[in-house]
Amino acid sequence: MERKPLIAGNWKMNLGLNESVSLINAIADNISHFPEVDVLVAPPFTALTTVKHAIGNSNIFLSGQNMHWEMSGAFTGEISAGMLQETGCTHIILGHSERRTLFKETSEVIDLKVKAAVALGLIPILCIGETLEQREAGQTYEVIENQLAGSLKSFRVDKGLPSSTVLAYEPVWAIGTGLTATPEQAQEVHYFIRQWIENNFDSELARQIRILYGGSVKPDNVKELMSEADIDGALVGGASLKSNSFVQLIRFQEM
Ligand code: PEP
Repeated sequence: MERKPLIAGNWKMNLGLNESVSLINAIADNISHFPEVDVLVAPPFTALTTVKHAIGNSNIFLSGQNMHWEMSGAFTGEISAGMLQETGCTHIILGHSERRTLFKETSEVIDLKVKAAVALGLIPILCIGETLEQREAGQTYEVIENQLAGSLKSFRVDKGLPSSTVLAYEPVWAIGTGLTATPEQAQEVHYFIRQWIENNFDSELARQIRILYGGSVKPDNVKELMSEADIDGALVGGASLKSNSFVQLIRFQEM
């Protein structure tokens, strides 16, 4: 089975409502009749409904950037999977390195979130990745394995991880730094991740699950990255904030 490429834009805490609408309209205009690639955007919570409205019938998936694992309750400042679904979200980014480092999210907490998302039918985009210090200490695979095992703990016991689940390998040293893993470095880790899924779940899931690369993906490096066997798309921060660069990423096959 061919895995369809997915190009996902994480807008983080950027863009007001007007800028969000301009960006999504420019993306939609440029990718109509372009079914070869799945496209997804993750705007800030406050722009989700507006962006969903602007997306209309265009084939662009909407994602949250984070959520709480409980469905409702006294959790000031938090948002639930159900609330995200009401805005039209189909996906949820979980375990981004900024959540893990700046907001001290552990793999245990991320596991709760993945479980809650899947229970409601939201598709998780689970991020994993090592720091520069860890890479230089030769700990990359150990870190990746621990993050996968911890963040998918419930599923290793109960199984039932949907094949629509997306994994995103994002080396922390490449996020927002302009440093990109070479295609070979990225492929090595993607291969390791797919093997881990095969060993801990099954070969069919490993064959189907999409593994995105994230970390300073730009129009000038996307094609090379996408030519690797186990790289199925990109999770993009900076270059997703401008329609020009994001559309070029979506159209990587034409470059
Ligand atoms: C990200 O935040 O997920 C990311 C990959 O950012 P950037 O593309 O800016 O490195």
